[in-house]
Amino acid sequence: MNVEANLLGIAQDGGVPQAGCDCAHCHRAWTDPAYRQFVACLGLVDHTSRQSWLIDATLDFREQLHALQNLAPGCPLAGIVLTHAHVGHYVGLIHLGREVMGRRGVPVYATPRLAHFLRGNAPWSQLVALGHIELRLLTPGADTQLSPHLHLTPLLVPHRDEHSDTLALVVRGPARRLFYCPDIDGWDEWEHDLRDFVAKMDVALLDATFFSADELSGRDLSEIPHPLAADTAQRLAGVDCDVRLIHLNHTNPLLAPGPEREWLAAQGIGVGTFGERWGL
Ligand SMILES: [Zn+2]
Ligand SMILES: [Zn+2]
Ligand SMILES: [Zn+2]
Repeated sequence: MNVEANLLGIAQDGGVPQAGCDCAHCHRAWTDPAYRQFVACLGLVDHTSRQSWLIDATLDFREQLHALQNLAPGCPLAGIVLTHAHVGHYVGLIHLGREVMGRRGVPVYATPRLAHFLRGNAPWSQLVALGHIELRLLTPGADTQLSPHLHLTPLLVPHRDEHSDTLALVVRGPARRLFYCPDIDGWDEWEHDLRDFVAKMDVALLDATFFSADELSGRDLSEIPHPLAADTAQRLAGVDCDVRLIHLNHTNPLLAPGPEREWLAAQGIGVGTFGERWGL
């Protein structure tokens, strides 16, 4: 594989287990580290140009950067692509600053609105001012070349855009294309038809924060809208694409083997696993 994508996390922003939670899934993860899940993140590697990239800088940045460098020794981090300014997707940038790594000029790809947020708010503004990161603007819909063999196209998706807009990404290597969409309010609000869009991809990693509305006791789904995994799977049953569900909330029954996972597999759809990799 000259160009590859590595799945480095599958949990919603807070990870599994989540702070302060002792629900059944979190309890199991507190007691057995095998059930812990890093926050959704994708690593990209071009072995030809000897470079690697992270899609999103999560709360688990430390472990995910280490994992990426283990998977691709000799391919140092050449940049970070950010999808949006929710806590699980950008705060890992803090490791690049002077208190920790003290890196110089790490390219950080972001939309103009997200770049404006980072430049205008501490502590992120300090990363820019001291030259730890170098912001590179992404234009939604326009091709961005990461290396001669690796391109991405950012696409705006509807989401709770408090501090920034939100991107999904189409990543293209020489042979295959991958769609990465960790957060979206709902497929019907998006400008594309999900099934038609996914059918044009080779791999699709999709927001499946909640399996069904049942698991949200005490929270209002209209305040934190996401597609429900059961609905997504019905829309995509049998589609000709390698579909994996990611961004799983700590309440999601897909985190463990059981009838929900079996039902999903019967639709031809899997749950993402840490370390899974695809040649592009
Ligand atoms: Zn998220
Ligand atoms: Zn929990
Ligand atoms: Zn979000």
